[in-house]
Amino acid sequence: MSAAKPLLKVDGLAAGYGDLRVVWDVSFEVSPGRLTVLLGRNGAGKTTTLRAISGLNKLTGGRIEFDGEQIDKATVAERVRMGMSYVQEGKRVLHAQTVEENLLLGGRVRNVRRSALHEDIDRIYGLFPILKAKRSLPAGSMSGGQQQMLAIGSALMARPRLLLLDEPSGGLAPVVVKEVMQRVAELKETGIGIILVEQAVEASLAIADDVVVVDMGRNVLAGPAGEMDLEELKRAYFGTRTPDGGTVVSS
Ligand code: ATP
Repeated sequence: MSAAKPLLKVDGLAAGYGDLRVVWDVSFEVSPGRLTVLLGRNGAGKTTTLRAISGLNKLTGGRIEFDGEQIDKATVAERVRMGMSYVQEGKRVLHAQTVEENLLLGGRVRNVRRSALHEDIDRIYGLFPILKAKRSLPAGSMSGGQQQMLAIGSALMARPRLLLLDEPSGGLAPVVVKEVMQRVAELKETGIGIILVEQAVEASLAIADDVVVVDMGRNVLAGPAGEMDLEELKRAYFGTRTPDGGTVVSS
């Protein structure tokens, strides 16, 4: 992980749904201007990890620090105000509203006048020029990739310092995935930290600074993307943990 002061520190995170625990022990850090990709098979616990960080799911173990402050008990709204924005999987945009109306809605959490949001909208149009070209069209008329960019743009309207992205590649053609990833990579230059949950392993590794592989609710591998051994990563990705915490490689 990087030497810069971490924006987010997740330590021994455990979470689930009611009495069902699905995340047992996940730890990683995210620094400003860096992207951490969370990889793992279906059901590994990646979305649940993001939900716990954003405050949607209660923590049942471990701790989360944001900007040096312990936030385990903070509500979703408080975390948004502190600077977290979460783009949930599949929940893209309001189809009947125009592109610009979607962006304005994304900025509503900042509680400022509508006119004050136009500066931010211009910034988003700079990052995603296609949204400017389509600003007056219903969001539902755009392609899946464009809608994904709008979903990310709407989240950025809250001026987050940490962006949580859950499978932005979902349902998109490979060439579109590449473009969305490219745009996500450019966001790092604005200085925000990013957690990206993905199953598009190659595309996400191409833009990641740090990698965390999760299996059965535990991290099984973590480190800088540039130092990752691909074979080791594959073994961790496809490995299956036994109840005593050991790893059985199933590839
Ligand atoms: P995917 O890529 O398939 O979304 P994931 O790694 O994000 O996988 P999670 O969505 O975190 O995995 O799911 C982890 C486990 O939690 C799965 O076994 C799943 O069935 C279970 N789970 C997810 N959502 C709920 C829920 N609302 N209620 C109960 N169990 C759930």
